[in-house]
Parts: sequence; structure tokens; C-alpha cells
Amino acid sequence: AHLARIDAVDEKVHAFLHVDREGALAGARAVDDRRERGEKLGPLAGVPLALKDIFTTEGVPTTAGSKMLEGWIPPYDATVTRRLKEAGVVILGKTNMDEFAMGSSTENSAYGPTGNPWDLTRIPGGSGGGSSAAVTAHMAALAIGTDTGGSIRQPAAVTGTVGVKPTYGGVSRYGMIAFSSSLDQGGPCARTVLDAALLHEVLAGHDPRDSTSVDAPVPPVVQAARNGSVAGMRVGVVKEFRGEGYQAGVVQRFDEAVELLRELGAEVVEVSCPTFDKALAAYYLIAPSECSSNLARYDGLRYGLRTGDDGTRSAEAVTSLTREAGFGPEVKRRIMLGTYALSSGYYDAYYGSAQKVRTLITRDFERAFEQVDVLVSPTTPTTAFPLGERVDDPMAMYLADLCTIPSNLAGNAAMSLPCGLAPEDGLPVGLQIIAPAMADDRLYRVGAAVE
Ligand code: GLN
Repeated sequence: AHLARIDAVDEKVHAFLHVDREGALAGARAVDDRRERGEKLGPLAGVPLALKDIFTTEGVPTTAGSKMLEGWIPPYDATVTRRLKEAGVVILGKTNMDEFAMGSSTENSAYGPTGNPWDLTRIPGGSGGGSSAAVTAHMAALAIGTDTGGSIRQPAAVTGTVGVKPTYGGVSRYGMIAFSSSLDQGGPCARTVLDAALLHEVLAGHDPRDSTSVDAPVPPVVQAARNGSVAGMRVGVVKEFRGEGYQAGVVQRFDEAVELLRELGAEVVEVSCPTFDKALAAYYLIAPSECSSNLARYDGLRYGLRTGDDGTRSAEAVTSLTREAGFGPEVKRRIMLGTYALSSGYYDAYYGSAQKVRTLITRDFERAFEQVDVLVSPTTPTTAFPLGERVDDPMAMYLADLCTIPSNLAGNAAMSLPCGLAPEDGLPVGLQIIAPAMADDRLYRVGAAVE
């Protein structure tokens, strides 16, 4: 049924870069066989899922939205891919994304943009717009995204779905193509809080193949999602996440959500996090710096694209020609920014300062969580903007992640879930919930209460 739905609507939406028809059917049959053999399977066995094209899949193309990896067939599965298969989740295919996850609209994909199923002339969010669109348009029951600065939560917000960035280190990064390693985190996309929790439980857990994987028990997310309640909880409203640049309808729906939390028995207080206004600046030094280092592996020699190798050119010349042809403009911009920020003489002024700001942001969160159990804010300042509107204005594009970036810098857990439609345009608004690191279950407890 899901493959038929993809056939019917994906020509218009363009959520998938690759549909693995045979793999999906074989996966579904394998679940039947396991069931017949009397194997006890988990709750997601047989459930079809769309996988962001940033996770390696053995024998199935993986591009990360880039020409640099066009035609590359990975020889191994990411830990996330492997865990999904073990749980009997059926992988339908790979979803569209901004090139190497750099963007907020999926317009930086080398394979063309994805439309928002609510209005195909608008963005589905980014970088994981293919995953959010697939879930929204019922082409997949579940999807996987990655969130470096908001790429799970912002697409969820603008498509009216649920997206969770687990605590940094909660889900393995092994086989997840690197953008900014100290920020990147994989997580679930779904239509309900409980669906997201069931998927979270499949993905999470220690992995010795990822040196930053947390070696601790997975927070009880499913139990929390089944027992939604905010009675007696303290909820902090982040003062800095409103004002100029916030759409009126977004603020209205957010205020109503806060009111609902109060009605349900939460104690709501205002919390100030004064260094959050520096988060965007710090992020756009740290993420490009790590990207410039991570993307050095695309040299046209080891794997992926190679251009200009006519037998006369040096390796350096081939690398240079390959990068010129293989990387899109946003990726080149980030590599240049990052290389500059890391160069000797500038390192302390830029990268060093950004790391100090990162520490201050983490302290703001620590102080806030001494007063409250969770923080809430709008997920994004605006609803889905029109395709094309911000492509020539990187600063405007970067602002889409204003409210999501602090959690990546601090490494804590955050969720976006729908909180109604903005009256002025009828488009979905997202409510962001933020919990301390390793308290991911609180997101689900609160999310299930207000859903
Ligand atoms: N939009 C942000 C960026 O372009 C975040 C992307 C992400 O979370 N992968 O870097």
C-alpha cells in the first residue's frame, strides 16, 4: 500500500531519491517468515519507514543529497540501518535532503527540491525535508532524520509532524555521513508522539563503533509516551524565543499551547537564557569548521565522484576538479568559512570564541533546568515559507533554526510536535519541548499530554 502511495504522489512531492521496491518487499516477507518461525517481534516489525539518504545502506545507493556520492553503493549498514532491520522495520527507500544536511529547506539537494504536502509551492523544511514530507503525505508510516542544528525538528514543525532530536550520543552516528560530528544526531520522525517513542527505542542505545555514544540505559521513552501528563511539572518558557521576526500566528498558537500546559496542571514560569542570542553565530562557526574537516575525505580518489582524470593530470588537479564539479554552492560556502575559521592566526578569534559561547549556552541551560523540568518555545519563527524565497539569502535561511540550534550546541534532547495551524496562512505550527541530556523521556511525557 505504501509503495502504491509513493507511485501515486511522489512524482509531485519528490520525497524519495531512491525507492527500494524489491528490498522493501523482501523485508516485509522476511518479517512474515520470522513470525511464522515463532520469533517474538517488536511492535514496529513490518512497519514501513523512509530513511534519510545520509545513512549508509548495504547495497542500496546513498548520496547524502550530493553529486559527490552519486552512484556510490555503500558496502555496509549504518548502526541505525542495522537496528531497523533487526527490529523488522521495512525500509522503503532513501529520502531527499539538503546536500550533506546543510540547509533548512531541502533546496540545497543536488537532485532538486521536495514540496511540502500541505502546499507544494512551499518548503518541507530541511535538511530532512524528504523524510518529513514522506510521513506527512502517508508515503511512509515513520521516517528517520538527522539533526545538527534543527534538521529533524524544523521539518516536523513546518509539516505538522513529530520529530525528536535525542540527547547527543543517544543514537549511534556510525554510518551516518558526517557533517558536524559534535552536533550531528539521528532521530525519529512520526505522526504521533507514541510512534516516535517506539522508533526512538529501536534506534537508541550504546554502540562501541561510535566513540561519542552514551554508555547508559536508554531513557524510558515508550513508557513516558503511554503516560502523558504534566501535572506537577515545572515548565519554563524561554523569554528570548519571541519578539521581532516571529510570525503572529506562530506566537498565538504557542501561547495557547502554554495555556493548555497550565490547564493540565503544569506550573509555568518564564526563564531567561541570555546567551541564546549568540547561538546562531557560534553554530555558524562550529558547524562549518567541523564540516571543512569532515568533507576533506571527498578527494575524488577514494570513492564517489572523480572528474578530469584523463591520465595526464596530477592527483591534486583531479581532486580540485572533482570538488569544483561535485559540491554545490552552500557546501562550498561552508568549507571556505570553516577553513578560514580554523586557519592559524584566526583560530582563537573565531573557533575559540565560538567554543566559549557554546559553554555559556550550556550553562544557561543548566541554570534553567535547576528551576524547571522542561523548556518550551516555538520550534520555528515562521510557518513553511515559499520555495525559492530564501535561496539567495543564506542569512534568512539560517534564521529558520534560531530556536533549535541551542540544543545541538548543548547536546540536550528536544522534540517538535504540532500545535495547530497559523490563522493567517493555515499552515502547521510546531511546539518545541527541550529536556536535559538523558532525560529524553520527559519530552514524551509532556508531548503525549498536549498532543
Ligand atoms: N539548517 C541548519 C544548517 O544548515 C541545520 C542543518 C541540520 O540540522 N543538519 O546547518
